[in-house]
Amino acid sequence: MSNRRKFFQVAALGAAGMALSSRAEAAGSGYVIPAEGIPSLPVVGSAARFPVRRIYCMGLNYPNHVAEGKGGFKAPPFYFQKAADMIVQNNSQVDYPLLTKDFEYELEMVVALKSGGKNIAKEQALDCVYGYAVGLDMTRRDLQGEGIDKRMPWEPGKSFDQCAPCSAITPASKVGYLSQGRIQLKVNGQVHQNDDIGAMIYDVPSIIAFLSKSVALAAGDIIYTGTPAGSGPVVSGDRMVGTIDQLETLTITVA
Ligand code: MN
Repeated sequence: MSNRRKFFQVAALGAAGMALSSRAEAAGSGYVIPAEGIPSLPVVGSAARFPVRRIYCMGLNYPNHVAEGKGGFKAPPFYFQKAADMIVQNNSQVDYPLLTKDFEYELEMVVALKSGGKNIAKEQALDCVYGYAVGLDMTRRDLQGEGIDKRMPWEPGKSFDQCAPCSAITPASKVGYLSQGRIQLKVNGQVHQNDDIGAMIYDVPSIIAFLSKSVALAAGDIIYTGTPAGSGPVVSGDRMVGTIDQLETLTITVA
């Protein structure tokens, strides 16, 4: 046996030995600390759930929201992220978060992907779509504004515990490509946002093509597609009801 071959055999044995001892340390789990479960969302008409990998959010994707100058600036559509475990299930409560005096809702259509890739052509983008849902991009608006003013990241304004409520996903196989339809948010029964998803600056294929130029998209990714005009504050006890034609209604209460 060559020395080179002997080296690889010994190295392989060593690696196997290490794997065995770390498994023993983690009481058989394969991890040195307990591993979190995969965040997921229900699927309309199915007992199986949709596993969430990453959450992308489009900013400034409706002309009337750009015109409001919410967040203090105007720019072409762009994106940011929330962590997958920041998902909140439908018909539940969110706590009023720490560090803010201006906790705001943004009602958005959510697109769930069944496949992905890099640099996806607009013409192929809809092949990646598993389905659609109704989401709230909850925002600590004052912290977002502070980040903008100080030229610091505005992540604390957008990415925090319980910031991503989302309804069950309706498969595209049931509703087709959702390119038009009423999007409406009521707070305590009053209409606060009311538009049509057809008004989006980047439509769903354009969003997928745009994001995939920056990062590799994959099955399990969900994309919040931006909010129309009318986002605003909620306080403890408020009840938000978000609807988009053909999708499950999202109802979230602020604890
Ligand atoms: Mn948003």
